[in-house]
Amino acid sequence: MNKLLPTSTAGSLPKPSWLAEPETLWSPWKLEGAALDAGKQDALCLALHEQQQAGLDIVSDGEQSRQHFVTTFIEHLSGVDFQKRHTVRIRNRYDASVPTVTGPVARTKPVFVEDAKFLRARTQQPIKWALPGPMTMIDTLYDAHYQDRRQLAFEFAAILNQEAKELAAAGVDIIQFDEPAFNVFFDEVNDWGIAALERAIEGLTCETAVHICYGYGIAANTEWKKTLGQQWRQYEAVLPKLAQSNIDIISLECHNSRVPLELLALVRGKKVMVGAIDVATTQIETAEEVAATLRLALQYVAADKLYPCTNCGMAPLPREVARAKLQALNAGAELVRQELALGPTKPCWPATPALAATD
Ligand SMILES: [Zn+2]
Repeated sequence: MNKLLPTSTAGSLPKPSWLAEPETLWSPWKLEGAALDAGKQDALCLALHEQQQAGLDIVSDGEQSRQHFVTTFIEHLSGVDFQKRHTVRIRNRYDASVPTVTGPVARTKPVFVEDAKFLRARTQQPIKWALPGPMTMIDTLYDAHYQDRRQLAFEFAAILNQEAKELAAAGVDIIQFDEPAFNVFFDEVNDWGIAALERAIEGLTCETAVHICYGYGIAANTEWKKTLGQQWRQYEAVLPKLAQSNIDIISLECHNSRVPLELLALVRGKKVMVGAIDVATTQIETAEEVAATLRLALQYVAADKLYPCTNCGMAPLPREVARAKLQALNAGAELVRQELALGPTKPCWPATPALAATD
């Protein structure tokens, strides 16, 4: 990106109320058959339009064709029985009835490639596409076949790699893997989680990102956050190894969270998508509030590597709230762009382009 501080979202946007029940996760579709297919495409166009109206620099499909960021991808695979359910604890946080892995998992056909081509045909802007990460996928299933978390994660990583290569060929510029599980299973992340992610990006020619957050603003997450203490230092356990990985961009929750932003220094040299919009509240940030988070992040991330973003997806939010938050994100980023253009008036910013480049 030539533009400084290019803005984007972490992924999902609310769906129109004629397509699915608003403000609900796993919301059932209101259409079916050909009408549903057409409705998803119309919603994708709307999501694109809203991002463009807000002035975002990197756009996405707003995940309009998925019920859920993990399960919709898994639904397209063989080897997983959605009728056979088991109750498991998701990310050590809440119980959910999940599908069962009953045989070898495989991708029998592309999952999102047609959607990506549809979006590519409608914009010249850089496109970011989100996929679930391998560790988060296995954490949303009961495995009666492999009975080995690492093995199943690598099976999924190979499948994700096939999909990612076709998405890149369809013109996607950044492929992002959503790994909220990286914020929970630290030993596994370092033992094999990051290696599985590297398998998923093997041979990719587009840019790659990993998104690690504290989740949507749903009750189970809000309760969990209350147990995390005054400082949320979970990123400290995984960022050092991610810094050594081949992942290009790290997407992190920063705004209104208790994450000490000095932890961003652990991935110095990587591009960082800095969450500057809180998705767990309907209160709209002011441009100044967004700018304050970005200025703080600039103490640890070089200006040419900082990508203002949302903390997480906005699917559960009211539509008008999400729209206003996108505008706030862009307005806040623009404030800081202007300050950077005026020169280093504050000591925390990279003093010269040369310094920024070596950062
Ligand atoms: Zn997230």
